[in-house]
Amino acid sequence: MLNIVLFGPPGAGKGTQSQKLIEKYNLKHISTGDLFRKHLSEGTELGKTAQQYMDAGKLVPDAVVIGMVEDTVAQKGPHQGFIFDGFPRTVAQAETLDQLMENFNMKINGMVALEVPVEVLKERIRERGKTSGRTDDQDEAKINTRIKVYLDETLPVAKYYEQQGKFAKVNGVGSINEIFDNICQEIEKF
Ligand code: ADP
Repeated sequence: MLNIVLFGPPGAGKGTQSQKLIEKYNLKHISTGDLFRKHLSEGTELGKTAQQYMDAGKLVPDAVVIGMVEDTVAQKGPHQGFIFDGFPRTVAQAETLDQLMENFNMKINGMVALEVPVEVLKERIRERGKTSGRTDDQDEAKINTRIKVYLDETLPVAKYYEQQGKFAKVNGVGSINEIFDNICQEIEKF
């Protein structure tokens, strides 16, 4: 079993690297952003609740996020573990994830954080906005709010894993394959 948290600000490349990691290690990808967008497109109640927060670039309340993650972890599949992308985003989410893992007799092996300078992030998000159709990628104020929320509320999650000796960082600027190789090196040390 390999359960990893891929961490980093919006636009860090978590989604891109997750796709490569799930193939290499046979993991199930749990991206809370993707799950919310799926709920939105299906018009579920959960999607409607999440929409107002997502549109504002704010965090969806912990209880909503955690319930959704729990349902996904509980689903059986052929995978060898999970890659959490965009979750946990608050220390309360991280604590609940540990509890959730324990309930399923699993644990988080470690967190890999992708480091990317703010100016590069903004440029990547603006570029993504041209094709992603994501309204939160097309509005400068929303991009700024998301980066601020990351710095204020999400960054402390890195400390949470660091204190447990489960933290590694990787430079998120470079070629996709180069970054991928560096992530894999760190994962194999967990
Ligand atoms: P990005 O990393 O580019 O901001 P995501 O797809 O991860 O994009 O998330 C999009 C939005 O979904 C966030 O701005 C937030 O509103 C919501 N969201 C995603 N994951 C979480 C989470 N773990 N906790 C709270 N809100 C979340």
